[in-house]
Formats: sequence, structure tokens, C-alpha cells
Amino acid sequence: SDSHFPIPIRPSDVDYAQHFPSFFPSTAAAATATAPKIRFADIGCGFGGLLVKLSTMFPTTLMIGMELRDKVTEYVKERILALRASNPGQYENISVVRTNSMKYLPNYFEKGQLSKMFFLFPDPHFKEKNHRRRVISRHLLDEYAYALELGGVIYTITDVEELGEWMRSCMEEHPLFEAVPEEEVDEDPVAALLCSATEEGQKVARNGGETYRAVYRRVMQSE
Ligand code: SAM
Repeated sequence: SDSHFPIPIRPSDVDYAQHFPSFFPSTAAAATATAPKIRFADIGCGFGGLLVKLSTMFPTTLMIGMELRDKVTEYVKERILALRASNPGQYENISVVRTNSMKYLPNYFEKGQLSKMFFLFPDPHFKEKNHRRRVISRHLLDEYAYALELGGVIYTITDVEELGEWMRSCMEEHPLFEAVPEEEVDEDPVAALLCSATEEGQKVARNGGETYRAVYRRVMQSE
């Protein structure tokens, strides 16, 4: 249950020096206003394949995975520590936290802090009564819009057609999100990772499954 993991009261309570020691050489540095902020969040990061790929693509960008399962989170922590150990100076910009993102996202991120959020192969929760447990919903998009900067991007992908339509329609209806044109998505090297970088994506690809992608940008409310 939630009582098994610490919950920061506000974003400034998170000790990011623990997550990114080489970006926070001392606790005194962490206390300064110039401390770097996390810019990418991978929600329900699973085994962390996306973070690992993004880490070397954006070596100076801090990114974090949020994962509910304890063992999976521990695995990702170990994976990152092993990568750091065998590649000195690399993989210092990625980390993971065990939390329920549907409850505690605003405890981790300030307004407009993130430039990218990822929702890769989220749990489908097929039954209608369970749709409220889906990680993309009208209500949660309000929180994601808060955490994202203007122009920031939400990337979603699933192999479940109905969930793909659901995620797209939630974002389509939300006044603070606008579809990124397909041509732009096709040229975005990050979008190319959606179906290949994660463990779930690789499983779907091995089985020759279809995927449904939706990429939306945080915009200002139109008049
Ligand atoms: N994104 C990864 C991938 O593509 O391989 C994992 C996909 S897996 C089907 C969904 C993941 O989301 C699981 O690891 C699950 O534990 C996690 N998850 C589900 N609900 C969550 C929540 N409320 N907060 C954080 N993680 C959650």
C-alpha cells in the first residue's frame, strides 16, 4: 500500500542529490536556486528501457521514471547503478522513484517544470467501471498540463486499440492540449523510441502487434 513508500509533501522536499549525485555535487549546491530540475518523466516506466535510451540522447537532461511496483523499481535502480558503474560519466541523468503517479505527481513536479511526459503501454483497465483507473483521463490531464511547460509534449502509445482511442480522445477534448502534426511526430527522434525502447514495446513488436500512438502538445487556453 501507499504507506510503504515515502511521499514528499512538496517538490522541494525531494532529495534529488540522491538520485543524480553528479548533478548535485553537494547538498549545499542542491539548496541553491540554480539546481537543475527534472525535465522528462516516464510514467509507469516498467523496467526502464526508455530512460536508458533517452539518457545518452539527452545527456544533460535530468529524467525520472515513476513506477508503482516495488520490485520493478528496485530493478531499475540497480540497472541504472550498473550502467553508471560500467560507463563512467554516463547514465548520471536518469533515476527512478517508486510512487503512485496517479496520486502523487504534483508532489514531485512544480508548475511548468517538465518538457516531456511519457505514457508507454499503460495498463488498459478494460472494464468500464475501471476506466477511472486509467493513467490518462480528463481529470489527470489537468495535472499533466500543470506539470508541463507551454510547448511541452505528452507521448502515449499502446497496443490496445480501444485504449489508444481513449487516450487520444481525452487529449483531443482537453483545452490545454493540441495534437502534434503527424509529419512532426515522424521526424521526432524521441517518438521513434516509443515502440522500440521499452520492454513492453519490444514484446509487442516481437509478436507483430499493432500500436496506436498519440502525441500532444501543452498549449495555452484559447480565448
Ligand atoms: N512503460 C513500460 C513499458 O512500456 O515497458 C511499462 C508498461 S507496463 C504494461 C505498465 C506499468 O505501469 C507497470 O510497470 C505498472 O506497475 C505501472 N503503473 C501502473 N499504475 C501506476 C501508477 N499509478 N503509478 C506508477 N506506475 C504505475
